[in-house]
Amino acid sequence: MSAYQKETVLSVKHWTDSLFSFTATRDPGFRFQNGQFAMIGLEVEGRPLVRAYSMASANHEDSLEFFSIKVNDGPLTSRLQKIKEGDIILVGRKATGTLITGNLIPGKRLLLLSTGTGIAPFASLIKDPDVYESYETIILAHGCRQVSELAYGERLVEKLRADELFGPLLADKLIYYPTVTREPFRNRGRISDLIESGQLFNDFGIPVLDRETDRVMLCGSPGMLEELRAMFTGRGFVEGNHSEPGHFVIEKAFVER
Ligand SMILES: Cc1cc2nc3c(=O)[nH]c(=O)nc-3n(C[C@H](O)[C@H](O)[C@H](O)COP(=O)(O)OP(=O)(O)OC[C@H]3O[C@@H](n4cnc5c(N)ncnc54)[C@H](O)[C@@H]3O)c2cc1C
Repeated sequence: MSAYQKETVLSVKHWTDSLFSFTATRDPGFRFQNGQFAMIGLEVEGRPLVRAYSMASANHEDSLEFFSIKVNDGPLTSRLQKIKEGDIILVGRKATGTLITGNLIPGKRLLLLSTGTGIAPFASLIKDPDVYESYETIILAHGCRQVSELAYGERLVEKLRADELFGPLLADKLIYYPTVTREPFRNRGRISDLIESGQLFNDFGIPVLDRETDRVMLCGSPGMLEELRAMFTGRGFVEGNHSEPGHFVIEKAFVER
Protein backbone atom coordinates (compact mmCIF):
# COMPACT_ATOMS: atom_id res chain seq x y z
CA MET A 1 0.00 0.00 0.00
CA SER A 2 1.36 3.43 -0.95
CA ALA A 3 2.12 5.91 1.82
CA TYR A 4 -0.15 8.37 0.00
CA GLN A 5 -3.83 8.39 -0.73
CA LYS A 6 -5.00 10.02 -3.98
CA GLU A 7 -7.64 12.66 -3.29
CA THR A 8 -9.64 14.86 -5.66
CA VAL A 9 -9.56 18.64 -5.43
CA LEU A 10 -13.08 19.96 -4.77
CA SER A 11 -12.47 23.71 -4.72
CA VAL A 12 -9.67 26.28 -4.84
CA LYS A 13 -9.72 29.88 -3.61
CA HIS A 14 -6.95 32.39 -4.21
CA TRP A 15 -6.80 34.98 -1.43
CA THR A 16 -3.77 37.02 -2.54
CA ASP A 17 -0.83 36.69 -4.94
CA SER A 18 0.90 34.57 -2.30
CA LEU A 19 -1.90 32.71 -0.49
CA PHE A 20 -4.57 30.21 -1.52
CA SER A 21 -6.69 27.53 0.08
CA PHE A 22 -8.23 24.39 -1.32
CA THR A 23 -10.49 21.55 -0.32
CA ALA A 24 -10.21 17.90 -1.32
CA THR A 25 -11.98 14.61 -0.78
CA ARG A 26 -11.04 12.72 2.39
CA ASP A 27 -10.53 9.00 2.63
CA PRO A 28 -12.81 7.76 5.43
CA GLY A 29 -9.80 5.88 6.83
CA PHE A 30 -7.71 9.05 7.19
CA ARG A 31 -7.77 9.89 10.91
CA PHE A 32 -6.18 12.91 12.55
CA GLN A 33 -6.40 15.04 15.65
CA ASN A 34 -7.35 18.68 15.18
CA GLY A 35 -4.13 20.73 14.96
CA GLN A 36 -2.05 18.00 13.31
CA PHE A 37 -0.28 18.00 9.94
CA ALA A 38 0.34 15.46 7.17
CA MET A 39 2.60 15.21 4.13
CA ILE A 40 0.68 16.30 1.06
CA GLY A 41 1.56 17.17 -2.52
CA LEU A 42 1.53 16.12 -6.14
CA GLU A 43 2.82 13.30 -8.25
CA VAL A 44 5.59 14.76 -10.42
CA GLU A 45 7.24 12.61 -13.08
CA GLY A 46 5.79 9.53 -11.44
CA ARG A 47 7.14 10.34 -7.98
CA PRO A 48 5.53 12.00 -4.95
CA LEU A 49 6.61 15.61 -4.33
CA VAL A 50 5.28 16.31 -0.85
CA ARG A 51 5.61 18.82 1.98
CA ALA A 52 4.22 19.10 5.51
CA TYR A 53 0.77 20.76 5.64
CA SER A 54 -1.52 21.39 8.58
CA MET A 55 -5.09 20.27 8.15
CA ALA A 56 -7.22 23.44 8.27
CA SER A 57 -10.37 21.33 8.31
CA ALA A 58 -11.56 19.69 11.50
CA ASN A 59 -11.59 15.93 11.97
CA HIS A 60 -15.41 15.78 11.99
CA GLU A 61 -15.59 17.19 8.44
CA ASP A 62 -16.05 14.97 5.39
CA SER A 63 -13.57 16.87 3.21
CA LEU A 64 -10.04 18.15 3.81
CA GLU A 65 -8.97 21.79 3.67
CA PHE A 66 -5.49 23.29 3.40
CA PHE A 67 -4.28 26.90 3.49
CA SER A 68 -1.13 27.41 1.45
CA ILE A 69 1.64 29.80 0.60
CA LYS A 70 2.71 30.25 -3.03
CA VAL A 71 6.49 30.21 -3.30
CA ASN A 72 7.20 31.02 -6.94
CA ASP A 73 10.39 28.97 -7.16
CA GLY A 74 9.21 26.48 -4.52
CA PRO A 75 9.36 22.89 -5.83
CA LEU A 76 5.85 22.07 -4.62
CA THR A 77 3.91 25.32 -4.41
CA SER A 78 5.04 26.62 -7.82
CA ARG A 79 2.94 23.66 -9.09
CA LEU A 80 0.34 23.34 -6.34
CA GLN A 81 -0.85 26.93 -6.82
CA LYS A 82 -2.12 25.87 -10.30
CA ILE A 83 -4.42 23.06 -9.10
CA LYS A 84 -8.07 23.21 -10.01
CA GLU A 85 -11.25 21.34 -9.23
CA GLY A 86 -10.99 17.69 -10.30
CA ASP A 87 -7.17 17.48 -10.05
CA ILE A 88 -5.54 14.78 -7.94
CA ILE A 89 -3.40 15.51 -4.89
CA LEU A 90 -1.50 13.12 -2.64
CA VAL A 91 -2.28 13.01 1.07
CA GLY A 92 -0.04 11.04 3.42
CA ARG A 93 -1.83 8.38 5.42
CA LYS A 94 -0.24 9.39 8.70
CA ALA A 95 -0.96 12.61 10.60
CA THR A 96 1.27 13.93 13.36
CA GLY A 97 2.17 17.13 15.23
CA THR A 98 2.47 18.76 18.62
CA LEU A 99 -0.42 21.27 18.40
CA ILE A 100 -2.95 19.02 20.08
CA THR A 101 -4.85 19.77 23.25
CA GLY A 102 -3.57 16.58 24.89
CA ASN A 103 -0.07 18.08 24.97
CA LEU A 104 -1.27 20.89 27.26
CA ILE A 105 -2.02 20.66 30.96
CA PRO A 106 -5.60 21.75 31.73
CA GLY A 107 -6.19 25.51 31.87
CA LYS A 108 -8.90 28.15 31.55
CA ARG A 109 -7.76 30.19 28.59
CA LEU A 110 -6.30 28.90 25.32
CA LEU A 111 -4.11 31.29 23.32
CA LEU A 112 -3.64 30.31 19.66
CA LEU A 113 -0.86 32.56 18.35
CA SER A 114 -0.03 32.47 14.64
CA THR A 115 1.63 34.31 11.80
CA GLY A 116 1.01 33.79 8.07
CA THR A 117 -0.08 30.27 7.14
CA GLY A 118 0.48 29.33 10.79
CA ILE A 119 -3.23 29.99 11.28
CA ALA A 120 -4.01 26.70 9.46
CA PRO A 121 -3.85 24.29 12.44
CA PHE A 122 -5.89 26.76 14.49
CA ALA A 123 -8.57 26.86 11.78
CA SER A 124 -8.98 23.17 12.59
CA LEU A 125 -8.90 23.64 16.37
CA ILE A 126 -11.49 26.44 16.45
CA LYS A 127 -13.91 24.05 14.73
CA ASP A 128 -13.47 21.49 17.52
CA PRO A 129 -16.41 21.49 19.96
CA ASP A 130 -14.17 19.84 22.62
CA VAL A 131 -11.93 22.92 22.64
CA TYR A 132 -14.93 25.04 23.66
CA GLU A 133 -15.77 22.50 26.38
CA SER A 134 -12.24 22.49 27.75
CA TYR A 135 -11.59 26.25 27.86
CA GLU A 136 -13.55 29.26 29.09
CA THR A 137 -11.90 31.58 26.57
CA ILE A 138 -10.04 30.98 23.32
CA ILE A 139 -7.92 33.79 21.89
CA LEU A 140 -6.99 33.44 18.22
CA ALA A 141 -4.29 35.95 17.26
CA HIS A 142 -3.12 36.11 13.65
CA GLY A 143 -0.28 38.39 12.61
CA CYS A 144 0.52 39.28 9.00
CA ARG A 145 2.36 42.01 7.20
CA GLN A 146 -0.59 43.21 5.12
CA VAL A 147 -4.34 43.45 5.72
CA SER A 148 -5.09 41.35 2.61
CA GLU A 149 -3.22 38.39 4.17
CA LEU A 150 -5.77 38.27 7.00
CA ALA A 151 -8.67 37.49 4.65
CA TYR A 152 -8.66 33.71 5.07
CA GLY A 153 -8.84 33.97 8.88
CA GLU A 154 -11.41 36.76 8.81
CA ARG A 155 -13.69 34.79 6.49
CA LEU A 156 -13.29 31.64 8.59
CA VAL A 157 -14.29 33.38 11.83
CA GLU A 158 -17.15 35.19 10.06
CA LYS A 159 -18.49 31.87 8.73
CA LEU A 160 -18.24 30.17 12.11
CA ARG A 161 -20.01 33.08 13.83
CA ALA A 162 -22.89 32.64 11.38
CA ASP A 163 -23.00 28.87 11.93
CA GLU A 164 -25.92 27.40 13.85
CA LEU A 165 -23.76 25.17 16.07
CA PHE A 166 -20.60 27.25 16.41
CA GLY A 167 -22.15 30.74 16.43
CA PRO A 168 -23.23 30.66 20.11
CA LEU A 169 -19.93 28.99 21.18
CA LEU A 170 -17.85 31.63 19.44
CA ALA A 171 -20.00 34.46 20.76
CA ASP A 172 -19.37 33.32 24.34
CA LYS A 173 -15.78 32.16 24.06
CA LEU A 174 -13.73 33.18 21.01
CA ILE A 175 -11.68 36.35 20.88
CA TYR A 176 -10.25 36.91 17.40
CA TYR A 177 -7.31 39.29 17.17
CA PRO A 178 -5.99 39.93 13.66
CA THR A 179 -3.00 42.28 13.54
CA VAL A 180 -0.72 43.68 10.85
CA THR A 181 2.77 45.12 10.92
CA ARG A 182 3.16 47.00 7.64
CA GLU A 183 -0.12 48.84 7.00
CA PRO A 184 -2.70 50.87 8.88
CA PHE A 185 -5.31 48.60 10.54
CA ARG A 186 -7.41 48.56 13.71
CA ASN A 187 -4.80 46.31 15.39
CA ARG A 188 -1.15 47.00 14.70
CA GLY A 189 2.06 45.31 15.79
CA ARG A 190 3.78 42.01 16.38
CA ILE A 191 2.10 39.43 18.57
CA SER A 192 5.10 39.25 20.93
CA ASP A 193 4.93 43.04 21.52
CA LEU A 194 1.14 42.96 21.95
CA ILE A 195 1.47 40.30 24.67
CA GLU A 196 4.47 41.90 26.32
CA SER A 197 2.74 45.29 26.52
CA GLY A 198 -0.56 43.69 27.58
CA GLN A 199 -2.38 45.43 24.72
CA LEU A 200 -3.81 42.22 23.31
CA PHE A 201 -5.63 41.70 26.62
CA ASN A 202 -6.33 45.34 27.49
CA ASP A 203 -8.12 45.85 24.16
CA PHE A 204 -10.77 43.40 25.42
CA GLY A 205 -10.61 44.33 29.11
CA ILE A 206 -9.49 40.80 30.06
CA PRO A 207 -6.70 39.73 32.46
CA VAL A 208 -3.14 39.82 31.13
CA LEU A 209 -1.04 36.69 30.60
CA ASP A 210 -1.06 34.34 33.58
CA ARG A 211 0.73 30.99 33.79
CA GLU A 212 -1.88 29.63 36.20
CA THR A 213 -4.75 29.96 33.73
CA ASP A 214 -3.23 30.32 30.25
CA ARG A 215 -2.25 27.57 27.84
CA VAL A 216 -0.62 28.50 24.57
CA MET A 217 -0.14 27.07 21.08
CA LEU A 218 2.31 28.73 18.72
CA CYS A 219 2.57 28.34 14.94
CA GLY A 220 4.49 30.79 12.80
CA SER A 221 7.80 31.73 11.24
CA PRO A 222 10.97 30.35 12.84
CA GLY A 223 11.83 33.87 14.08
CA MET A 224 8.42 34.44 15.69
CA LEU A 225 8.63 31.04 17.40
CA GLU A 226 12.07 31.62 18.86
CA GLU A 227 11.05 35.00 20.21
CA LEU A 228 7.85 33.73 21.79
CA ARG A 229 9.47 30.56 23.13
CA ALA A 230 12.03 32.75 24.95
CA MET A 231 9.27 35.01 26.26
CA PHE A 232 7.09 32.20 27.60
CA THR A 233 10.00 30.26 29.05
CA GLY A 234 11.18 33.46 30.73
CA ARG A 235 7.77 33.73 32.39
CA GLY A 236 7.97 30.19 33.75
CA PHE A 237 5.81 28.48 31.11
CA VAL A 238 7.01 24.94 30.39
CA GLU A 239 6.99 23.59 26.82
CA GLY A 240 4.85 20.49 26.38
CA ASN A 241 5.22 17.51 24.07
CA HIS A 242 3.80 14.04 23.54
CA SER A 243 5.53 12.56 26.57
CA GLU A 244 4.94 15.43 28.99
CA PRO A 245 2.14 18.00 28.67
CA GLY A 246 3.10 21.61 29.41
CA HIS A 247 1.88 25.21 29.43
CA PHE A 248 2.69 25.77 25.75
CA VAL A 249 3.38 23.87 22.53
CA ILE A 250 5.10 24.88 19.31
CA GLU A 251 4.96 23.93 15.62
CA LYS A 252 6.89 25.56 12.79
CA ALA A 253 4.66 27.01 10.05
CA PHE A 254 7.57 26.35 7.66
CA VAL A 255 11.27 25.62 7.63
CA GLU A 256 13.86 28.00 6.16
CA ARG A 257 15.72 26.13 3.42
C1 LIG B 1 4.98 21.16 10.42
C2 LIG B 1 4.81 21.99 9.18
C3 LIG B 1 3.54 22.35 8.77
C4 LIG B 1 3.37 23.13 7.62
N1 LIG B 1 2.10 23.53 7.26
C5 LIG B 1 1.95 24.35 6.19
C6 LIG B 1 0.65 24.82 5.81
O1 LIG B 1 -0.36 24.47 6.42
N2 LIG B 1 0.58 25.67 4.75
C7 LIG B 1 1.69 26.05 4.04
O2 LIG B 1 1.56 26.81 3.08
N3 LIG B 1 2.91 25.61 4.36
C8 LIG B 1 3.07 24.76 5.40
N4 LIG B 1 4.32 24.30 5.72
C9 LIG B 1 5.42 24.60 4.79
C10 LIG B 1 5.41 23.56 3.65
O3 LIG B 1 5.83 22.32 4.15
C11 LIG B 1 6.29 23.96 2.42
O4 LIG B 1 7.49 24.50 2.84
C12 LIG B 1 5.58 24.95 1.51
O5 LIG B 1 4.44 24.33 0.98
C13 LIG B 1 6.45 25.39 0.35
O6 LIG B 1 6.84 24.25 -0.39
P1 LIG B 1 7.75 24.43 -1.67
O7 LIG B 1 8.24 23.09 -2.09
O8 LIG B 1 7.03 25.24 -2.70
O9 LIG B 1 9.00 25.31 -1.17
P2 LIG B 1 10.05 24.92 -0.03
O10 LIG B 1 11.33 24.55 -0.71
O11 LIG B 1 9.45 23.97 0.92
O12 LIG B 1 10.21 26.32 0.69
C14 LIG B 1 10.98 27.36 0.09
C15 LIG B 1 11.03 28.53 1.03
O13 LIG B 1 9.79 29.18 1.07
C16 LIG B 1 9.52 29.72 2.35
N5 LIG B 1 8.24 29.13 2.84
C17 LIG B 1 7.84 27.83 2.75
N6 LIG B 1 6.62 27.67 3.30
C18 LIG B 1 6.24 28.88 3.76
C19 LIG B 1 5.07 29.34 4.42
N7 LIG B 1 4.07 28.50 4.72
N8 LIG B 1 5.02 30.64 4.75
C20 LIG B 1 6.05 31.49 4.44
N9 LIG B 1 7.17 31.11 3.81
C21 LIG B 1 7.27 29.82 3.47
C22 LIG B 1 10.70 29.35 3.24
O14 LIG B 1 11.60 30.43 3.29
C23 LIG B 1 11.33 28.21 2.50
O15 LIG B 1 12.72 28.18 2.74
C24 LIG B 1 4.51 23.52 6.86
C25 LIG B 1 5.79 23.13 7.27
C26 LIG B 1 5.95 22.39 8.44
C27 LIG B 1 7.34 22.01 8.86
